[in-house]
Amino acid sequence: MKANRIIATIGLAILASGTIQAANTGKAFYGDPPDDRHPWAIHDRNRPQPPRVEPKPASELAAKAKAPAGAVILFDGTEAALAKWEADKKEIEPTKWIIRDGAMECVPKSGYVRTKQQFGDCQLHVEWASPTPPQGESQGRGNSGIFLMGSLEIQVLDNYDNPTYADGFACSVYGINPPAANALRSPGEFQFIDIEFRRPIYENEKCVDPGYVTVYCNGILVQDRLAPDGTGGHQKRSKPGPMPEKGVLKLQDHGNPVRFRNIWLRELPPRTGVTPSHGPLTAEETAAKRKEIAATIRADAARLASADNPLPELLRALESLPYEKQDAVVKQATELTGKYLQKLSQLPKDKLAGKKDEVKDLGAAFKYLDKWNLIPAGYGPRTDVDALIKAQGWQDVTKGKK
Ligand code: MG
Repeated sequence: MKANRIIATIGLAILASGTIQAANTGKAFYGDPPDDRHPWAIHDRNRPQPPRVEPKPASELAAKAKAPAGAVILFDGTEAALAKWEADKKEIEPTKWIIRDGAMECVPKSGYVRTKQQFGDCQLHVEWASPTPPQGESQGRGNSGIFLMGSLEIQVLDNYDNPTYADGFACSVYGINPPAANALRSPGEFQFIDIEFRRPIYENEKCVDPGYVTVYCNGILVQDRLAPDGTGGHQKRSKPGPMPEKGVLKLQDHGNPVRFRNIWLRELPPRTGVTPSHGPLTAEETAAKRKEIAATIRADAARLASADNPLPELLRALESLPYEKQDAVVKQATELTGKYLQKLSQLPKDKLAGKKDEVKDLGAAFKYLDKWNLIPAGYGPRTDVDALIKAQGWQDVTKGKK
């Protein structure tokens, strides 16, 4: 993807400066921006990585991991248990997932699997292991997912030694909330995941109980009664809403042969009263946090300033705008874009051709900022960059689209 190149371009500079720990964990100008209750963008690469906390030893957890009497056994290593699952897409039924060494293993490109039975509020235990030796990076390494009610994903990912955007980290509620800690074991070892889930309840479109999800990773609390705030998702910010009384449990095929074992579930009794949970921040807390994030990014932009190459400073300064709109930054971006284009205009034709990707990345950044009204309508620098792209014939030609 094009945006990767933005990261490649400025990521090294940021790493060299050593100031922004999380800046190389995803794409800039990517997911929906911060809003008045959420200080971070979706898949925000500036969001800090979960701190490392040593997991409890498996020997200490094993006894507790045994299914209690009355639990629904969803996988215990047997063919009979695998038969409790079906392919999520009927056209590839029966599921092609296999049993290997007592675990059920995702066969890449065979599709998600789901339970034949539906469940409501539950306590769920799952053990998973990512492939070893590890392959791929970020979201491409050992990706799967546990989908509560078929829609709310508790992320399964090999983040033992693999940064990614925080709200897509292992045990994140994907696209909603990062885990409070990285308590993962190394790839190939089984992770013990315990989940408690209470669905949100609505009456006549009014939320009467936001519900919650609590997650333990290897005995460490990583999601603490989080109100789901929607069902999450990729790039888009979800909105809180009702969930059905019951739904299937799904496991994701994300193209990696992740293994699962010892899956059991206890349906929880009906709630009495409203359960306490933690939702998004207040508007005041959000505004303060957004200001703080923007200031950190602007300070980082200042450190990237270079008379030879204004682009890294420019892109980083632009990245602060979704957190805090500031006329001074827009003015600074106008000057920096002018300097950048001036430098490009002095290049011989063959050297200019080599700048295609970074110019297009800048164009994409302006497009994102324009979409979210973070730069003025008809912003001159955007017009200039788009004109250069057009003059050089660098637009993407996509079939079937204008
Ligand atoms: Mg996943």
